[in-house]
Amino acid sequence: MKLVIDERRCKGCNLCTLVCPYRIFRPGKTPNRKGTIIPELDRPERCTNCRLRHLYGRTLCGMCQMICPDQAIRWEEEKPNEPHKVAIEY
Ligand code: SF4
Ligand code: SF4
Repeated sequence: MKLVIDERRCKGCNLCTLVCPYRIFRPGKTPNRKGTIIPELDRPERCTNCRLRHLYGRTLCGMCQMICPDQAIRWEEEKPNEPHKVAIEY
């Protein structure tokens, strides 16, 4: 699983940067074509849901997704041949 921010939905409010216990979201720096500054992801493979959701079959954190007012955060399966990244941080 990998964490994805949907740029079409995100309005750059940065609420997600406040709630993640791993500080995976950082305020972005560069506006996109619509002028929205999308947060950057810092090693999203550290996210609890990215690492463990398949194993336990349920959402294990999801704070960022719950707080996002625009439903811009989701998890996707990696494509075939796309490397699966896993990082564990205590
Ligand atoms: S699910 Fe939790 S750990 Fe993963 S990015 Fe969102 S807030 Fe951070
Ligand atoms: S909380 Fe949602 S809308 Fe706000 S910056 Fe994060 S992804 Fe974008």
